[in-house]
Amino acid sequence: MAAQSDLYRALGVSRDATQEQIKQAFRKLAMEYHPDRNKAEGAEQRFKQIAAAYEVLSDAEKRGAYDRFGMAGVKGNGQQGFGGAEGFSGFGDIFDAFFRGTAARPAAAQRGADLRARLDISFDQAVFGAEREIEYERTEGCDDCRGKGQAGGKPLAECRECSGTGEIRRVQQSLFGQFVNVASCGRCGGEGRVVMDPCPACRGSGLRRVRRKQVVKIPAGVDEGSQIRLSGEGDAGARGGPPGNLYVVLQVEPHELFERADSNLLYDLPLNVAQAALGCTVEVPTLDGDSLSLEVKPGTQHGHVFAIRGKGVPYLRGSGRGDLLVHTHVVTPQKVTAEQRKLLEQLAESLGTPSVPRGAEGSLFGRIRDALG
Ligand SMILES: [Zn+2]
Ligand SMILES: [Zn+2]
Repeated sequence: MAAQSDLYRALGVSRDATQEQIKQAFRKLAMEYHPDRNKAEGAEQRFKQIAAAYEVLSDAEKRGAYDRFGMAGVKGNGQQGFGGAEGFSGFGDIFDAFFRGTAARPAAAQRGADLRARLDISFDQAVFGAEREIEYERTEGCDDCRGKGQAGGKPLAECRECSGTGEIRRVQQSLFGQFVNVASCGRCGGEGRVVMDPCPACRGSGLRRVRRKQVVKIPAGVDEGSQIRLSGEGDAGARGGPPGNLYVVLQVEPHELFERADSNLLYDLPLNVAQAALGCTVEVPTLDGDSLSLEVKPGTQHGHVFAIRGKGVPYLRGSGRGDLLVHTHVVTPQKVTAEQRKLLEQLAESLGTPSVPRGAEGSLFGRIRDALG
């Protein structure tokens, strides 16, 4: 015969434990001995004791009866198979009910998918901005049935499987009496409504694929891989949910003359040996379409950088523009005429073997110095 303190001992609490203490003790022990987690010998039996003890002690009325009359007080009042292993099959359910809850979630409105579209733009369009049109495919609500899926847009029929509740309730017997297991209705997907007469245009889905055109405003200063978000221009949402976004990913075509380095434009200025040595005035093209005179000083080295302020790329955020960085590139002749050969031979003899000025731009030491900042 079970002693009166057995149920309290089963949960490891004192007789004057509060409801919260009982609940916490059960939670801790149930997690430890649940047969899904604990495969040790006797764990299942222990779990049943814990669950049975909690069943009584968590209920003020049953706990009172147990305190006064012991097991006799709680036996035979509608609880079947109490305290024994027989007929007990539902501990998974009580575990679920305690830790997870079993209420079905109604089918919620879903936001539509985000879409991504690639757009090739010219170098100039990236620098100065543009308006471009793109064409892409997206899911929209069907016009014929106004997104309902039912022919002619008539209201949906009540699901007979769940009588329109969207839930299927199953009553299960367990040691602790009846459990109601609530699950989402499989027939209507939890919506409680079904399409009886499918719309021919969308075959009852309420959605269809359409090609759409959108004007994309490209701000000045975007670069390769920049994304432009068009809010709400993605796929339509399901069950009345909001649409997703369209992300336009930009791909920038290379330029014949210029390269980008963030907000700066790079330009390679070719110079022959004589121009670099004697200095000269050259015309440098700009992306704006005009050209600028640039004074190349005598003795200009290969790899020198002239910064032309404000002729670069407009800043994407804020006002102003980056610079046009003109890199000198002293081009060594690869083919020479007989006359050039004679002149160069004279020059070679006259100049002798030069030395690279220490720390000169473009020199090995200079590059290391630049790399080290
Ligand atoms: Zn339709
Ligand atoms: Zn249903």
